[in-house]
Amino acid sequence: MSDRRPLIAGNWKMFKTPAEAADTAKSLVGLVRDATHTDIMIAPPFTALVSVAETLAGSPVDLGAQNLYWEKEGAFTGEISAAMLRAACCTYVIIGHSERRQYFGESDETVNRRVRCAVENNLKPVLCIGETEAEREAGKTLSVLDKQLKNGLQDLFSDDLGNLVVAYEPVWAIGTGKTATTEQAQEAHKFIRSKLEEITGSALSEIVRILYGGSVKPANISELMDMPDIDGALVGGASLEAESFSKIVLFQ
Ligand code: PEP
Repeated sequence: MSDRRPLIAGNWKMFKTPAEAADTAKSLVGLVRDATHTDIMIAPPFTALVSVAETLAGSPVDLGAQNLYWEKEGAFTGEISAAMLRAACCTYVIIGHSERRQYFGESDETVNRRVRCAVENNLKPVLCIGETEAEREAGKTLSVLDKQLKNGLQDLFSDDLGNLVVAYEPVWAIGTGKTATTEQAQEAHKFIRSKLEEITGSALSEIVRILYGGSVKPANISELMDMPDIDGALVGGASLEAESFSKIVLFQ
């Protein structure tokens, strides 16, 4: 593990009503109350942001959203703005999750617009990148990461990126029970850090946290966190229950 402060983030995807989400958040807060070694974030669905924000008030758990739209306001049915997320007490926003890219037509260009909008509005972007199984088998992992990272960060400079978080999420490991080996994950994270240095031309690459995502569970968090370039985790399935997510948060 590095000197960077870890971040353990939960992506609740399209699960939980406002009442269910507040319930889980309440249990989580009780279980991680004394956690001082890591930052913690949960990203419930939009409809649960307000109930969860009320539950998290005064706790060490931060609130995140799962997406945003880059326009300020207007006739954009179904979208949500950065100002709306700020008003709902979000501090983080997940951008470019592979499910958004796969099912909702997100491209590197729209991901970049969202990242820029998050930065302009003081939301911490969690930029998700990762290769598919076919891309890994074709030996294209690093070139895919390079492209997604460069395009996702286009027109952003080191001054903008102090709050950037990158999540490396191999698509083949998301929700499948398959986890990248610690060596595969470390190789990807080290590569991403070297590219961040190239892109920003600054020491920022040593500050940016790079999370691993893909079937993270209480049983595998410690070995992942032992890797020098893994600074935390973005957790889907195992974040839905307070008990299992708290065990990941409390990794040793
Ligand atoms: C995710 O949704 O970002 C994710 C990593 O999911 P899971 O932990 O379920 O693989």
